[in-house]
Amino acid sequence: MNKFKKRLYEYLSKTDFLGFGYYFFNKLNPRKITKAIIDIGSTCNAKCPYCPRQQEGFTFKDNGLMTEEIFETIYSQLKEMPDLKNISLYAFGEPLLNKNAGEYIKKIAQLNKKTLLSTNTTNMDKFTDELMLIDRLQFSIEGWDKESYERTRKNLKFEETIEKLKNFDEEVKKRRAENLKTPFRTIHCLFTKSTDLHKFIETWSPYVDEIRFTTMGPYISWSDDKKSTKLYYTKEMEQDCFKFDIPVEVKTCSYVNNTITVNSNGKVVLCCGDFSQHLALGDYRDLNKAFNCKLLKNLVKQIYFGEKNICNGCRNYFACDKDKVYKYFPELNNLESLSTDKCKIIVTL
Ligand code: SF4
Repeated sequence: MNKFKKRLYEYLSKTDFLGFGYYFFNKLNPRKITKAIIDIGSTCNAKCPYCPRQQEGFTFKDNGLMTEEIFETIYSQLKEMPDLKNISLYAFGEPLLNKNAGEYIKKIAQLNKKTLLSTNTTNMDKFTDELMLIDRLQFSIEGWDKESYERTRKNLKFEETIEKLKNFDEEVKKRRAENLKTPFRTIHCLFTKSTDLHKFIETWSPYVDEIRFTTMGPYISWSDDKKSTKLYYTKEMEQDCFKFDIPVEVKTCSYVNNTITVNSNGKVVLCCGDFSQHLALGDYRDLNKAFNCKLLKNLVKQIYFGEKNICNGCRNYFACDKDKVYKYFPELNNLESLSTDKCKIIVTL
């Protein structure tokens, strides 16, 4: 059997025909950058026990604030990306710790793409006008009262967060009454076994347009040779999270297919799972080159064909037992019925 036939035979025996179809579909439809994740602030002022920063061996160290030079170089390339649809100004930290955040938001808003930003709320009062330009504004919150909030968002204050959301909501109401642009405000609540879902809705729904509930899952940890990944649970997660132990078939991942993720120091990394920048694919000076690097292209193929690859230890490859979650929280079955005109409740396990 010649080399080509042997390779073809290996592919066919390892994968299904759907995967094969995907591969050729992608050959005919080359990858394009449709989403850019520009991490303007990789540092954080909180010490959340569920955060990958708290994992042993977390090594990333620099001031974590994207400079104007890096931002401008990226910005000039984003302007030339015809297929770009979404721009996120966050990935690994708190973007509003960057004093230039307001300027960066204003510039990105001029590109007429869908913009996203996630904040822990501490600095949002400094950027009220600019945050109104964001399309989807996410608040990082897990607790529902002083005790639970300050346990899950260490270093932050419950009363201050309530106050900031309340003030921001007043401003949103005023602007909506005048038909001015305001962001769609959402909380993506990553719940654990100890989350009080009803109290969570009661506390935060007055200040947002949507609350989305998803089970909190583990993070990725990388092997020393950077060739493999596995799931990592922080100590708190071990005790409190539902286990992700059901293998899932994965055919694709948007991060390798259509997304470019740039850290605050300008390194292009695989995805938001790479907190420690283990796998730098290139840098901010040439985003297209990084997106088309050999490693990413190979990864696309490996994922399609179900071959062993560095992503195999990612959460995408595992699910938790949904029946167990529903048994533990029977109220999840009718949580969405608590939606109001003001705030929509969504459950996505
Ligand atoms: S590690 Fe997971 S999220 Fe990251 S590129 Fe791989 S599959 Fe996608």
